[in-house]
Amino acid sequence: RRYGFHGTSHRFVSKRCIELMGGVENAHRVIVCHLGNGSSLSAVKDGKCQDTSMGLSPLAGVPMGTRAGDIDTCVAQFIMNKYNMSADDCLTMLNKKSGVLALSDGVSSDFRDLDAAAEKGNEAAQLALDKFAYEVRKYIGAYAAALGGVDCIVFTAGVGENSGSMRASICDGLEYLGVKLDAEKNKLRGEEVIISTPDSKVTVWVIPTNEELMIAQDTAAHGSSHAHHGHAEQVHMLLHCQGCAGNGKGHRADQFKIKLKTGIVIPPVYNSITIPRPQGKIYP
Ligand code: AMP
Repeated sequence: RRYGFHGTSHRFVSKRCIELMGGVENAHRVIVCHLGNGSSLSAVKDGKCQDTSMGLSPLAGVPMGTRAGDIDTCVAQFIMNKYNMSADDCLTMLNKKSGVLALSDGVSSDFRDLDAAAEKGNEAAQLALDKFAYEVRKYIGAYAAALGGVDCIVFTAGVGENSGSMRASICDGLEYLGVKLDAEKNKLRGEEVIISTPDSKVTVWVIPTNEELMIAQDTAAHGSSHAHHGHAEQVHMLLHCQGCAGNGKGHRADQFKIKLKTGIVIPPVYNSITIPRPQGKIYP
């Protein structure tokens, strides 16, 4: 089974893209690129996710900060034999010490550091950036084939929202699909904006993700359905930021109270929801 992992973000961003395009009739085929410390792409047809690059675990897909992304399965066997490693140690290495961190010879898993190092002439950092862009571009091509074309490409998450140079590097070579970036618009970051030219066949968007809002909306919908069935009158939700997850009292990102019609049973499952990252985080 493919779990997908950034599903909340993909869903929020693809819905928002369809809304901004004025309806699904203008955005039949959307490719969402969630590029952050962890990265994944999804292919969305008529508002429904058809494919996603992460799999049973988040290791699959494009290379990431520290995850290798797709590899030949035999690589694991090769590494285990060569370095006398257990399967667990090998998987830990592929999850935590690989990706752009390893490709850059240990410079960093953070794309800002890689940009800075590459600018100073560090070839390994440049290789890591180029390889990342290449693999994302390959997935876009694969998903365009799977969807029978593409109407919109959307960039989101830390790298996707903030790095114009990475977006340009990914789109460089997608002209055959009808992608034409507007170099000036592509300098913008962290806001909802079309970064393709008016005559580009594919509309390329930057849409900041809002996983917290999506979780809140989903939970509210779930809460209302419970209420509808007479289970709850009020559903309280506390959203905790990930850094505080688990201690039960960390700082509260947001609070929701939903007043419903019948009964006053508050299912404990609604008391606390862990969110992936604090809302409105500003990147320098
Ligand atoms: P996320 O996992 O979505 O929080 O994204 C975190 C990643 O976004 C960081 O590891 C950075 O590599 C990347 N990032 C944030 N801001 C920038 C920027 N201005 N340029 C390049 N990468 C950035």
